[in-house]
This record gives sequence, structure tokens and C-alpha cells, in this order.
Amino acid sequence: MSVRDIIILGCSSQQPTRFRNHGAYLVRWNDEGLLFDPGEGTQRQFIYANIAPPVVNRIFISHFHGDHCLGLGSMLMRLNLDKVTHPIHCYYPASGKKYFDRLRYGSSYHETITVIEHPVSESGLVQDDGHFRIEAAFLEHGIDNIGWRVTEPDMRKFDRAKLDAHGIRGPLVRELIETGSLTIGGHLTRLEEVSWIRHGDSIAVVIDTRQCQNAINIARNARVLICESTYQEEHKELAYLHFHLTAKQAAAIAREAKAHQLILTHFSARYQNLREMEAEAKSVFPNTYMAEDLRVFPFPKNE
Ligand SMILES: [Zn+2]
Ligand SMILES: [Zn+2]
Repeated sequence: MSVRDIIILGCSSQQPTRFRNHGAYLVRWNDEGLLFDPGEGTQRQFIYANIAPPVVNRIFISHFHGDHCLGLGSMLMRLNLDKVTHPIHCYYPASGKKYFDRLRYGSSYHETITVIEHPVSESGLVQDDGHFRIEAAFLEHGIDNIGWRVTEPDMRKFDRAKLDAHGIRGPLVRELIETGSLTIGGHLTRLEEVSWIRHGDSIAVVIDTRQCQNAINIARNARVLICESTYQEEHKELAYLHFHLTAKQAAAIAREAKAHQLILTHFSARYQNLREMEAEAKSVFPNTYMAEDLRVFPFPKNE
């Protein structure tokens, strides 16, 4: 099985601290590398994480505030320097096309990589290419800002013992998949008797928003929800004013959405210690974890 994990490359909000770089989140999943919101310094964080940047093949920009995109240009240049041959898919709010172009061509270099742009202008399905289904939901952040949900395909799994008991092996398995049923020695076997559907896992990323229905919609049943948590409850007026969430509000989104696990991130520099924030979130959604620079979260398969 290929590696499945989530690497926190940074977890600060607008202003980095000595211990928190600008945000960036790498998901290694089904032989792909999905990079969300490469903030400043992301390229260097890959070195600290001991991961080679060419694992990246999809880059998601939630919105064009600097802490979510200023590392895009250097990441693209790095992938170029590393002579990456696979295409790099970039997903971003369509209204930010001018910022995307400036970041992509912010300095002089000879571009050899293939960048496939996916400007997104409305909530809904963005792409389903057989590897992943990518959905977008516009959030409430004062500027166009997208929450993402990425889902792997459903897969049919077979019960080996049942296949053997029915005398089905080798090319007969393929035939059973294609026809839905097989008759061997006068005995009919239906596909559902010897197999089941494993529903693909989803990861949702909700970064920078006020509480809104779309945040819940995009996180629905997600195996992991990575969500912003800029403020503690005592600063909830500030959170509302600046179109952000408190930890408790983020936890409420996870609970409403019936997400399995919540990873909080995008912490305001005013909080050096996150213990209180963690307790606030866990009082609403116990399966909450706090992001930390270079922390690696396993992303186990839901069997
Ligand atoms: Zn931000
Ligand atoms: Zn923002």
C-alpha cells in the first residue's frame, strides 16, 4: 500500500512565529502528493520534513491572501528545477487568476514543467479523473475562498475464501465483475455474494471562513477535516469581524458534518500555548488534534 499521511508544513495564520511557519499541508495519498495552501517558506519546510518536493502533483489555493499562496511561485520554480515530468494541477478561485499568474511568473526562469490550471468559479464538482473526485465550496471570508473535499474512488473488494468456495479464480473474477453473475457447475454466484464496496475516503480542507453551511457541506463525512482555528472563544468577536473561526466553531463544523477526525490549524500568533484552544475544541468534538509544524498525521484506510 502506498504511503498515506498528512504532513503539516506550517500552521500559523497571517503572521508566522518562531515555531509556526505560514500554513501548508501535504497529503500523500494513493501515489499522489496534494499540497494545500503553500504559504511563504513552504519549499524550505519540505527540507525540514525530509520530503522531496517532486512528490507534489496537485496544488490547491483556497484564496489569495498572502499566507495561503506566497509560496506558490517558489514551489513551481522548485518543481521546475527538479525537472518534474508529471503535470502539476493547480486549483484556485477563478477571480484570483491575476494573482495566480503573478505568482507563477513572479521571477525569471525557464519554465519546463506542465501546469494545468483549474480556475474554479462555483461550488460543486471540479474534477473527477478516476484518481480523485475534487469538490469545491465557496466559504465566507470577505474574498473568494474555497473549501475543498478530495475523495478517492470506491473500490470493490473480494472475499478470497468465498471466491474459493464458489470455485471462482483467475480470469473468472474478471468475468464476474463484467457480467455481475456466473454459473459454475450449475451453481449461480452473484457478484455481491463474494464482494463488497469499500467507499473511498475523503479529506476536507476548510481554511479561512466564518461559520457557514458550505463549510459543513464540504466536510460531510470526511475521514479527516483540516480546519482553520484562528481564535479562542474569548476572541469570537474578532473571529467574526475578520471572517475567521474559533476552535469551538471549527469543532462544531466537524460535529455537524459528522467528520471522523479534526485537525486544527491556522493559529493566531497571539496564542503561544494552544492547550486552552485544544480543550475548547475537544469539548465539542473529542477527536480533535492540533497541527504543529512538521507533525505527521497518519491517514489510515477506512476498511
Ligand atoms: Zn489566513
Ligand atoms: Zn485569509
